[in-house]
Amino acid sequence: TIILGLESSCDETAAALVSADGQILAHRLATQEEVHRPYGGVVPEIAARAHVEALSPLIEAALADAKMSLNDVDVIAATAGPGLIGGVMVGLVTGKALAHAAGKPLVAVNHLEGHALSPRLADRTLQFPYLLLLVSGGHCQLLKVKGPGDYARLATTIDDAAGEAFDKTAKLLGLGYPGGPLVEKAAAGGNPNAVPLPRPLVGTAEPHFSFAGLKSAVMRAVQSGHYATEDIAASFQQAVIDCLVDRTRRALGGSASVTALVVAGGVAANQPIRTALERLAADHDLPFVAPPLWLCTDNAAMIAWAGAERYAAGLVDDLSVPARPRWPLDPAAEKARGAGV
Ligand code: ATP
Ligand code: MG
Ligand code: FE
Repeated sequence: TIILGLESSCDETAAALVSADGQILAHRLATQEEVHRPYGGVVPEIAARAHVEALSPLIEAALADAKMSLNDVDVIAATAGPGLIGGVMVGLVTGKALAHAAGKPLVAVNHLEGHALSPRLADRTLQFPYLLLLVSGGHCQLLKVKGPGDYARLATTIDDAAGEAFDKTAKLLGLGYPGGPLVEKAAAGGNPNAVPLPRPLVGTAEPHFSFAGLKSAVMRAVQSGHYATEDIAASFQQAVIDCLVDRTRRALGGSASVTALVVAGGVAANQPIRTALERLAADHDLPFVAPPLWLCTDNAAMIAWAGAERYAAGLVDDLSVPARPRWPLDPAAEKARGAGV
């Protein structure tokens, strides 16, 4: 079974071909970083137009890389949300058109499920259920991953996402966009103990994350003029690591048995974060799984793979399936929080 995956939910346009046994046959990606750099962030209208221009050539290139035609594809998987609605529409409508034209089944993939299942594409021995720290540009969550479409959210951020905090810190430090990798690079030359910064919610009984206070503290440190850029970056990164490790340790202590500790999403590309989580997993005698860096940030291989997992579980979608700008993996937990619980 061959799955074509399409991704267009943010500022990466991507197409990939993956087999049901986890071989990546082709993956193509066009990033819009240059397009959005002058604005210091993603501009939705510009993103949607860029997706339109980039997607079809990427699909053709991926098929050519794999020496295949659309007829060789068995399943079409496209991101249907969450994300910027204009971009999501581009990929989903293209997926629907291809599925209709070629008479193939369509799987509408939740972008977060793409991130969540990507570790199983990276490591085919990884079994359900695993504890996942999903850290990306828009999300920071701890999830018990029980199977395709089957998630228990144990924690989420009450304000900013971890990647958002990296991006805002990069902006405050004048490092540029996108911020995560630039902060990591600056931090490598700095002292993580130089700047006293808060660790919001660390040690508390509640399970959640918070990064807004950390961001404000970084702003004050920058404005004070007392600290070197590298030292602020290193101290910020250390504060994030301490928060992620503390909250994940809490979840490991409380939750029922899991097969592994897993990290995914764009922020999982950060090496010091990976190292700290690997140590935490070892403390709990658990295997640690983190996808290769390119599979952590947005890509279409993870969408094709989530499509493969859902298809294998009998989860296919009607061509009327809508694009969903908001789409939680665990709707019950989302609802409970919305009600103030
Ligand atoms: P979401 O997946 O929540 O919808 P998204 O798709 O925009 O959001 P991803 O592409 O998964 O997010 O991740 C991008 C985020 O990851 C950005 O915030 C970026 O700064 C961050 N990031 C990427 N590389 C690193 C790194 N090396 N260190 C820290 N953060 C990083
Ligand atoms: Mg991106
Ligand atoms: Fe993402």
